[in-house]
Amino acid sequence: MEVGAVKVGFIGIGTMGKPMAINIIRAGYSLIVNDVNEQAVQELVKLGAQKAQNPCECAQQSDVIITMLPNNAIVEQVLLGENGIFAGAKPGVCLIDMSSVAPSFTQKMAKRAAEKGLGYVDAPVSGGVKGAAGGTLTIMVGGETELVNQIRPLLEVLGKKIYHVGPVSSGDAVKVVNNLLLGINMAAVAEAFTLGTKLGINPQTLYEIISVSSGNSYALTAKMPNFVFKDNFTPGFSIDLQYKDLELAVQTAKELKIPMMLMNVAQQLFEQARANGLGKEDISAVIKPLEELMGIKVRL
Ligand code: NAD
Repeated sequence: MEVGAVKVGFIGIGTMGKPMAINIIRAGYSLIVNDVNEQAVQELVKLGAQKAQNPCECAQQSDVIITMLPNNAIVEQVLLGENGIFAGAKPGVCLIDMSSVAPSFTQKMAKRAAEKGLGYVDAPVSGGVKGAAGGTLTIMVGGETELVNQIRPLLEVLGKKIYHVGPVSSGDAVKVVNNLLLGINMAAVAEAFTLGTKLGINPQTLYEIISVSSGNSYALTAKMPNFVFKDNFTPGFSIDLQYKDLELAVQTAKELKIPMMLMNVAQQLFEQARANGLGKEDISAVIKPLEELMGIKVRL
């Protein structure tokens, strides 16, 4: 089918969804959007998108529907709620959930979709706002091969590295593991740098040496120079979302009866930051309660 003839529904045009939706318009697809935030909808309408009053209306008019929403509960509401996607989608339509949600949740939703004759693919992403804006996201995909091949051209508009991991929910499984590591690494970098600074070492010196030594990580190189050192905690990726992703890992491990030590400690450090009112700040703000405790600041 010609790109222009494919109508893409997009629900959840937030921090990540907005630049992704813009890339879909630029690639020549016809786009219909829905979000509870009217201002976000109007920005997309100005760029040529059509507005749907609710997810049901969006689904009725779409050949393929992308959701990019905060969490399990909201995805469930948008899919199954009154005026939800399931109420409007035509049989044969493919739903692509790009939100970060639990694998077991996706399995439940995919089963419900199959009962309605709808395709279901999980395709969570990594790469942040920069990756979303540049169309360079890493996309982890779970779903039937035929379905994934059908939607691949659309995913290629959004991402550079697209991995078809396996059956439905396996993209979410990789994403949960990835963000578990990000959470643990970020908490570890924060703790280590408060110790180093308390020992009187200049944070820049610590950074220069560790970034070329065995303590290096993405959390270090992406977050210390651009956020903590500059006292800039505008997300980026928020403490609340990282906490939610650790909760996905906690829930998943509980379902499987797997003890996960570091995961729970890291989650408590993010809980502490939330308790201090830092939920909307960048994940690197997890360092702030530790700085307070040690009476130092890791700034340049
Ligand atoms: P966000 O909160 O900025 O955007 C979510 C959007 O969903 C908002 O525009 C909100 O108004 C909309 N929304 C909420 N409830 C709705 C409803 N009932 N109906 C319609 N729209 C609704 O979140 P985000 O940062 O864009 O993240 C989206 C997903 O992507 C999350 O699952 C997140 O974990 C994941 N993710 C985020 C990043 C990042 O760097 N921000 C990176 C990778 C993955």
